[in-house]
Amino acid sequence: MVNPVLSAPQFQDEEGAFAYVESRLWPHGPACPHCGNANGKRIRKMAGKTTRRGLYKCYECRKPFTVRMGTIFESSHLPLHLWLQVIHLMCASKKGIATRQIQRMLVCSMKTAWFLTHRIRKAMRDGSLAPMGGVGGIVESDETFIGRKDGTIKRRGHGHKNAVLSLVDRKSGKVRSFYIDGTSAADVMPIIRKNVAKETAMMTDEGGHYSRLGSDFQSHETVNHKADEYVRYDGDRLITTNTGENYFSVFKRGMKGVYQHCSEKHLHRYLAEFDFRYSTAQELHGLKAKLDFWSWQQLSHAQAKSNSLQAVVSHQLAGGEVLTDPLDTDVLLSLTAPTGEKITYRLPKAESRKIAEEILSLPSVKTNSEDLN
Ligand SMILES: [Zn+2]
Repeated sequence: MVNPVLSAPQFQDEEGAFAYVESRLWPHGPACPHCGNANGKRIRKMAGKTTRRGLYKCYECRKPFTVRMGTIFESSHLPLHLWLQVIHLMCASKKGIATRQIQRMLVCSMKTAWFLTHRIRKAMRDGSLAPMGGVGGIVESDETFIGRKDGTIKRRGHGHKNAVLSLVDRKSGKVRSFYIDGTSAADVMPIIRKNVAKETAMMTDEGGHYSRLGSDFQSHETVNHKADEYVRYDGDRLITTNTGENYFSVFKRGMKGVYQHCSEKHLHRYLAEFDFRYSTAQELHGLKAKLDFWSWQQLSHAQAKSNSLQAVVSHQLAGGEVLTDPLDTDVLLSLTAPTGEKITYRLPKAESRKIAEEILSLPSVKTNSEDLN
């Protein structure tokens, strides 16, 4: 039976959209974005006739809030169900979706469509600092060239083009791409060292800038593209950079076919979009799963930090522990007040480890256990 995905309740109206986003961002009930209070008894849903949709009041800090606060939906006049439609379309279109297309579908201004899609791209940025690869892991590193740098003329070779470095973790299927100045060792090596665990087996082509990889990582295998070698076996191990090449082909077809004119200034935004789609497509199956687009809860680090730290200081906490949310949406920091009362704070996933560590290192907080994974 045909079941068109856009007829799902969250895409139809505001009631469905709020219910959907609340169930995703607050799987354990509402949490106050002002003070971090997640105690259901100290939060009430406002239900007056003229009350704004989805409005809650926190009885710890006495401030009102909705699920849109602290997310990419904040301070936007666009109805939430239209936001969800655009997110869905961007996640489900392998090569991206043109801003003009969004404009035609929503019947909105070009400016609105542009604002929307760039905000969504911002949320798609992978904030993870965890190294790729690891023991037994394989990471492919490869570069490609796209478009033309601002203020250059077309010549032979790659000098006038924008260079992109992509790292692909073969096991997890995750990709991280970087807009780089050039392809010398000085451009490439610091990024690889920063993003890949030392225990990783690296695979690249025979580019001279990779000559030092072998001494920095577990191993370094190369394929010789100049001699038309793309795949080779070492025992049962597949030596190739084809996973990376596959990513580049989707990226290039999207950039040429859909986003025809992308200036240098915006390239990193499009890279974030293609990375997100590629990385999630590997781990999730089906359109429904792709919709679970957790990254939309992107509090800025500063904001999240001040919220959480303030909360900690104001409660003079006696001890704490970090729990991983079972749904892995973000990290829950559970702290015990001197009264014995447990208080749970929700930390956005992207920055959670850093914030949690900072909180637990405060002299007023005694750590019970630490599970930051
Ligand atoms: Zn509050």
